[in-house]
Amino acid sequence: MNNVNLNKMRLKRLKNNGTPELKLNQLQLAMKKQIEDNIQENKYVFEKTNCPICEKDNSEKLGEKDRYGLYYSTVICKDCGLIYTNPRMTQSSYNQFYNEEYRKLYGGTEKANEEFFSRQQAKGERIYNFITSNSLISTKDLFVMEVGCGAGGILYFFRSKGSIIKGIDLGEEYINYGREKYNLDLEAGTLENLLLKRKPDLIIYSHVMEHILDLENELKLIRKYSHDNTIVYIEVPGVKEIHKNYMMNILLYFQNAHVYHFTLTTLINLMSKNGYKFLKGNEFLMSTFQLNDLESKNNFINDYNSAISYIDRIEKRRKLYPFTSIGLKRNSLKIILQVVDFLGLRKFMRTLKTILLNLLF
Ligand SMILES: [Zn+2]
Repeated sequence: MNNVNLNKMRLKRLKNNGTPELKLNQLQLAMKKQIEDNIQENKYVFEKTNCPICEKDNSEKLGEKDRYGLYYSTVICKDCGLIYTNPRMTQSSYNQFYNEEYRKLYGGTEKANEEFFSRQQAKGERIYNFITSNSLISTKDLFVMEVGCGAGGILYFFRSKGSIIKGIDLGEEYINYGREKYNLDLEAGTLENLLLKRKPDLIIYSHVMEHILDLENELKLIRKYSHDNTIVYIEVPGVKEIHKNYMMNILLYFQNAHVYHFTLTTLINLMSKNGYKFLKGNEFLMSTFQLNDLESKNNFINDYNSAISYIDRIEKRRKLYPFTSIGLKRNSLKIILQVVDFLGLRKFMRTLKTILLNLLF
């Protein structure tokens, strides 16, 4: 694992030296150590994979660590431009990681709370606006299903607009919060064993797809639950907006729970390979798809050159981030929030933060 030829790695500063890019607290450091021990003792096992889109093994190495300083090998496929983690942890290793270290390492809380729920609600509004603008769909009487719904804040917003909702997630703590506090129809489980009375008109995957190892199986299941007009909404952290959302630093973007890193083009390639046509999207990345007619052809575009030149560009300009217009905007926002916090207006700050984040995204 440590014998990578650095000359062959595109981003040399991403060498596997254990140094985190983020400032980690005591709990995060303990989790990092636990993961490193598990890797050392072969409790966490890695497997090699081919590109899940073009199925080839023709890739270039980007880096070998993530923002926590954990071993994390990322490559870009030369034949289609998909960036993926390879080798990656096996599913059973990931299951253990999600149970034991994930939330603590990522600085989250074990339990859902009101702040988390209201952030989800704000996200729900953003997704709602995206779906309904240009009259893609009317949400009245719409059956909306979300996979990986957490406490259900996104669905809560859709319900307030007249939709019928259903959410599934593996985390029972979060599910119970939305069920008990907001009477939302949420269920613990996966798509595999879900029973529905009718097929959803809208299926939402928000920051979920990049965690799923077997994408082909997942998309097969989504097809099973889709009718001809079902809209599949997919949101993932977009590679080509690292300059906006990750301080122009690809190392902050790389986090060990993510196995795929999409651009809009590579996501369209994946969906089109699995029988879906693209409706609309952006590089943030928010996107919608619908079942394809059987005869229609795949419009496969190799995004390698475009993705690599984007990465090279942000890597060169990374240190200039504080002086870019986005950097200046973000930093002044941070200062305002710190002042408000200092004045003891925490509740006000939370509302302000939600409003400002909504304005920025
Ligand atoms: Zn590929």
